[in-house]
Amino acid sequence: MEHSHRYHAYPTEEVAERLEHHIDVHRQLYNHVHWDYKNIPGDEKLSEYDQNNKLPEWKRKWPLFSELYSKAAQATIARFHRNLTSLKELKNNERKVGKLKRQAPSEYRSVTYNQSGFDLDEKRGRSRYAFVRFSKIGWVKIRYHRPLPEHTTIKEVTFKKERTGEWFVSFGLETDDEHVPEKPSVDSLNTTNSVGIDLGILNYIHTSDGTTVDWLGLEDEYERLRREQRKLSRKQKGSNNYEGQRREVAKVKRHIRRKVLDYQHKITTLLLHKYDAVFVENLNVTEMLRDDGNARNKQDAAWRQFITLLEYKGDLHGTHVVQVEARGTTKKCASCGVETKKPIWVREHSCPSCGFETDRDANAAMNILQRGFSELGLGWPESTPVETVTATDTDDFRRVSARHVVETGSLEA
Ligand SMILES: [Zn+2]
Repeated sequence: MEHSHRYHAYPTEEVAERLEHHIDVHRQLYNHVHWDYKNIPGDEKLSEYDQNNKLPEWKRKWPLFSELYSKAAQATIARFHRNLTSLKELKNNERKVGKLKRQAPSEYRSVTYNQSGFDLDEKRGRSRYAFVRFSKIGWVKIRYHRPLPEHTTIKEVTFKKERTGEWFVSFGLETDDEHVPEKPSVDSLNTTNSVGIDLGILNYIHTSDGTTVDWLGLEDEYERLRREQRKLSRKQKGSNNYEGQRREVAKVKRHIRRKVLDYQHKITTLLLHKYDAVFVENLNVTEMLRDDGNARNKQDAAWRQFITLLEYKGDLHGTHVVQVEARGTTKKCASCGVETKKPIWVREHSCPSCGFETDRDANAAMNILQRGFSELGLGWPESTPVETVTATDTDDFRRVSARHVVETGSLEA
């Protein structure tokens, strides 16, 4: 199983200079690979293998390329061919795409070491820090906030300089399949070890067994973002001040993204530890891509990230994660199945047909749980589903604050 871990990096000034130099030489190599590919006469296009074979000749001709670690140079050639392939795939899907471009310094920001040429020293740093060595460059300190899992092989390591000037190191990992915990058998799933999750409007999530988790408060961060953006709007475009301020804005945005990601990591880990199966609504991706840029769209992107995390960590933890059709989960009564129209401001579910009453999102979460069971081919285990799932009185919901999640790493209120 493949996955990845990413860490903040703190190279010394001297090493940072070398990292930057290597990024730039790799960029030149990438552009050369591009040029070489385009300008070869005849119909026969060069393969990645062909161009790898040309590497020694290029090094003789341009000694600059000899400064690079060989495997890393090959990874850069591989990067070009990967980009080529994904461009072709997009074209085959009849998407409008441009051509591969030469990479300008502002666009080319990372280098990958594949299979060899790197070491990880977990002990050398003080606790919470570790060191990574890149051949021909040197040691780089990273904030090692979560250690690599056991039984994991590092397949590749990438260093990257973000637009904000911050450095990151990420590890491409492979965990031996025999060490990935097996998911419990589907037959063992029931309403006590499985959960439906409603992705919230009022709450971040609402679970089918009656826990609500609050939104992460980001008011201060957004206020700061607005302030920095206002400052940016007053600067002259293209001036040095403008560039500096643009970086400030990027830094705040990054900070917000990281905080959200961290929060999502915490919640997903808690869910995966607590349950054998987690069911979540399926977000409509095509609809999401349609109108870009609005606030709703950004939240959808964040939910997509949440679901992706949940799925990928589910495989690592041995927990079933299943997406179910979201349509109608709000309208449908979780107790009798009758659909009732419900405008967004109606927070209660009160069924005219069977009289079942609960919170709107709790009802949706219960429907998601039911759909998850049927998706796995399981019948609904009880004849009176809802009563077995949760107390229906809204006062009985366990409300967990975002702060509690962040500070204690627990969903138990
Ligand atoms: Zn009903």
